[in-house]
Amino acid sequence: MRGGKKGRGWRQAVETRARRRPTLSPSFSPSYALDAIYTYTGTILIAVNPFCPLPHLYGADMMAQYRGVRFGELSPHVYAVADAAHAALRSTGRSQSILISGESGAGKTETAKLIMQYLAWAGEAGAAESGAGARAVPPPGSPSSPTREKRSVERQVLESNPLLEAFGNAKTARNDNSSRFGKFVDIQFDASGRISGAAVRTYLLERSRVVSVNDPERSFHIFYQLCAGASPSEREALRLRPAQEFAYLARSSCTNLDGVSNADEYARTRTAMAGVGVAPADGDAALRVVAAVLHLGNVAFVATGDDECAVVEGDAAASLDAAAHCLRVDPAALAKSLTTRTRATPDGPIVSPLPAPAAADNRDALAKSLYARLFDWLVDRINAAIGQDPAAAASVGVLDIYGFECFDANDFEQFCINLANEKLQQHFNSHVFKMEQAEYEREAIDWSYIEFVDNQDVLDLVEGAPAGVLACLDDVCRFPRAAASDFAEKLYASPAVASSARFSRPKTQPGAFTVAHYAGGVTYDTTNFLSKNRDFVVAEHEALLAGSGDPFVAALAPQAVAVDGARGGASAYRFSSVAARFKTQLADLMAALSAAEPHYVRCVKPNAANAPARFEPGPVLHQLRCGGVLEAVRISCAGFPAKVPYADFVDHFWALAPAAAAAGDDVAAAKAVAASAKLSGFQAGRTKMFLRAGAMAALDRLRTDKLNGAAVTLQRFGRGFLARRSFARARAAVVTLQAGVRGWLARARARSLRQAKAATRIQAA
Ligand code: ADP
Ligand code: MG
Repeated sequence: MRGGKKGRGWRQAVETRARRRPTLSPSFSPSYALDAIYTYTGTILIAVNPFCPLPHLYGADMMAQYRGVRFGELSPHVYAVADAAHAALRSTGRSQSILISGESGAGKTETAKLIMQYLAWAGEAGAAESGAGARAVPPPGSPSSPTREKRSVERQVLESNPLLEAFGNAKTARNDNSSRFGKFVDIQFDASGRISGAAVRTYLLERSRVVSVNDPERSFHIFYQLCAGASPSEREALRLRPAQEFAYLARSSCTNLDGVSNADEYARTRTAMAGVGVAPADGDAALRVVAAVLHLGNVAFVATGDDECAVVEGDAAASLDAAAHCLRVDPAALAKSLTTRTRATPDGPIVSPLPAPAAADNRDALAKSLYARLFDWLVDRINAAIGQDPAAAASVGVLDIYGFECFDANDFEQFCINLANEKLQQHFNSHVFKMEQAEYEREAIDWSYIEFVDNQDVLDLVEGAPAGVLACLDDVCRFPRAAASDFAEKLYASPAVASSARFSRPKTQPGAFTVAHYAGGVTYDTTNFLSKNRDFVVAEHEALLAGSGDPFVAALAPQAVAVDGARGGASAYRFSSVAARFKTQLADLMAALSAAEPHYVRCVKPNAANAPARFEPGPVLHQLRCGGVLEAVRISCAGFPAKVPYADFVDHFWALAPAAAAAGDDVAAAKAVAASAKLSGFQAGRTKMFLRAGAMAALDRLRTDKLNGAAVTLQRFGRGFLARRSFARARAAVVTLQAGVRGWLARARARSLRQAKAATRIQAA
């Protein structure tokens, strides 16, 4: 009988389970219950969030196990994906990308961190082996060597995470540490395979969170950290108060996170700042801006006459003063920039007062743009500190981006996020499709009939020029007085939009529109689209900041804007479109991704309660669908889903053509197997058998029948043999018994004859 591999199984990298899980809910996945949180669909890694630490799965020992091992040989793991990317980079010199997606709380950021840790470790290990440097391999998480004054690039990349999280993460209803921005970290490697530089790019920070946050969510972590952790001298210099006394934060009653100390986190953030090389003075200035945003939120306005307003006396006036103090600007100038609008006219600038609600909007706009620019500054700072390597051989890009979203109410953010996911899905589809095609070509298989399902029509609907949804939105936003209903009406009236099969107008929800995305239909409410898309560059704000006594704040104003109308136009408000900027960023991202070879990780959130050991099949299925996993399966099924190397094929199916299999030619044997099974749904490639969907199952049925038949024959002979043997034994026993009995009878008869004879003799005598 032929030897060989036994079925499809992964060598288990984890030999022993570290501990047993807590009690399991009635519905659970057996693998998940065993802490086997990773699996593969093709080359896609699916990672199910365990919601509890699994230290036995990670660390230097595990990294060492996965290093250099062929993908798929060991049990599925995120390190295997990171290693595949690193190995491909080293062997082909081509840039790689690892795309991580999933819904909020699914574990994207944790997965990205694990990947970065692996890449840092593998780079060091590889360089140490090839003797390219004398640096020892530090175990991840160990403090860096005190003798090396310049921190290693990989350490800085890892240390930038807590810093970005402090400023860009917040507690949401789904995740206590939810990233409110997309992130692409491009990790550059030198010729020896060691990390030599990195670039961090961020996408679509959720700036509206600065001014509006509701129970049970929180604003960005840094606000709470600063309020709780600032030293007494900082507290005094920044005029800080407890978080609940700042209006922007008090809109939610949540200020603390379970098991997290805001003050400790503040210390961690300051350490991380030093770690990526932010000078202490710059760190102080950045936190001054954070404090200024908080103080701005407390500046309230009262109407003082027709369409005029002023800052409320007392607490609000003190807050205005504190904000001006933190920004190093004149309080009167700040008040003026908040309560008035300057219009440029041919006769010179005209300053007109604002009504109280408009002033409040104006204040929120300043707070949001200050914070967004601070975040951009931080990203620039991190990039400058880590440094780019112009001579980098290639890079591995790690994309940690929000997955497809569909809620009860969907807003502008969901629209942008879903646009990003449509783009990524197109990239994914074409990659999976191209991979299939490439394999068929390599194997000389006819693939011409495989249909490529594209989502270009959705992208045309959203991004199309000149009349896609985004173009309509920007058109409407250019009119300051336009209302949300104008946008909805424009959409319904635009032939390019309304004629798209992917667009529909829900009958029950006025002002809404539905897009049939690849993962399902999503209905968007247009109410906030205009306000969220408009990022007015308010000339007064720019001029105010540019004139700050603090060079840090002045540098946050992008360019000095003359309020005297020198820039032309009727209004000093210049519209800048958030969506258009996002679209440009996305195009850059896609260009970077298309130059790299992709690897995919899909994170799955097993339950809505963020609880360990709970697996809800319905939501998991939905996420697999949104992540395009089922689409990948579909593309694969459209062609030849089973691709089996000849040797494995014959190992498994030799029983269907035993004579051919015994001859030793695997290709001929495989064809003989197919012929004996009268199989039609297959093609014989160069190294593999390609089977259509269902063909494998049909062959397996035949094989089972054959084996069953053989088993029956074996059983027949076995049973016959046993029956014969037991019959023979019984017969022998009977014969023995009979012989004994007969002997005894014969002896008894002889005795009685002798006795009779003797009696006769006696009587005769
Ligand atoms: P996302 O970025 O997708 O919103 P996170 O990566 O922040 O989600 O993960 C949410 C939480 O889930 C983390 O704070 C952590 O507690 C838990 N988690 C995620 N991945 C893992 C993992 N591999 N092991 C243990 N806990 C994890
Ligand atoms: Mg995240």
